[in-house]
Amino acid sequence: MVPFKFEEIIVEQGSETSPIFYNLRRSLPEVPVRLVAPDDLAAGREPVRGFAAAKKKLVLARHKGEFLKKCPGSGGQVCCNYFVINFASNCPMDCSYCYLQDYLSENPALKVFSNTDDLLAEAGALLARHRKLLFRIGTGEITDSLALDPYIGFSRQAVPFFAAQPNVLLELKTKSDCVDDLLKLDPKGRVVVSWSMSPQRVIEADEPGTASLEERLRAARRCQDAGYRLGFHFDPMIEYPGWEQDYRDLVERIFATVDWRRVSWLSMGVLRATPALKRAMRERGASARLLAGEQVLCRDGKLRYFQPLRVQMYRRMLGWIRSAAPATKVYLCMESREVWQDVFGYAPGCEKELGDLLLPGM
Ligand code: SF4
Repeated sequence: MVPFKFEEIIVEQGSETSPIFYNLRRSLPEVPVRLVAPDDLAAGREPVRGFAAAKKKLVLARHKGEFLKKCPGSGGQVCCNYFVINFASNCPMDCSYCYLQDYLSENPALKVFSNTDDLLAEAGALLARHRKLLFRIGTGEITDSLALDPYIGFSRQAVPFFAAQPNVLLELKTKSDCVDDLLKLDPKGRVVVSWSMSPQRVIEADEPGTASLEERLRAARRCQDAGYRLGFHFDPMIEYPGWEQDYRDLVERIFATVDWRRVSWLSMGVLRATPALKRAMRERGASARLLAGEQVLCRDGKLRYFQPLRVQMYRRMLGWIRSAAPATKVYLCMESREVWQDVFGYAPGCEKELGDLLLPGM
């Protein structure tokens, strides 16, 4: 995977004493640093010239709101009772279907939060308040969980913290192969490292800056060998001539590389986009493969393939997964109860039921 090239690090005054700043200086000594006043950052006086340009400047600032929230899911779709914790906003990679192009269109700065201690304290307080509940918490909602890790060292603080908690599974979701620091840590069974997986031809066309399929597989194997639980997300699944052979090969390659008994969960979700995201994808040069397929507007305001096609795609994938990994837990991301019913023959009664189904025996 090619290292990211940052043009500048913009540091909010007060954040220059944080461990993240120290890690940035050590890992990127050649990148110029500029200190700015908090008011200038808050007032947006740091100009950001568009989504792609924003990814070239790394902003380090305190996060002033809450770090932890319930995953918003998508209106009316089956939800898997997941919590998200945001240590950063935006992502140095640039997938052409990325929903952040729409979600962060007003505020695209690539920002890392310097007050990791507050983040961990907030998570620790929630876990301590509900010791009888087992939580699934992920860091990959509005950034990639690991792509920035070689520069900021977040995992060196987060993994030992969550590994010491009795009632959590932390999921680090990535399209990178940045796992070197993870391998030096003991996850104590509390950390799932998961990869979003696509056929290599999709990676080459629509996931610029990410690790190749081979690199992701090698990283997954290294994490498995170091004691991490694994996860894989086939999301977004894309329909194009030849998709079946590509996705079948993908499933077979994964399970020829890792032991399915170490895989905590797999998810499937087809390509989806709000109309605004579809416009951004068109403007930013997404491949014809993404733009061409016919899609319908669903209840949650997102465009998806027709329901019969989605069901057919999920059933085919599920068949290939079941041949290679007979007992691995599989769920659908942001899909309706009807689709669940047609694919699995059942739909979870509530989000807690699905969340509990995904928890491994601890
Ligand atoms: S890796 Fe994820 S967060 Fe980053 S650009 Fe791709 S889809 Fe977006």
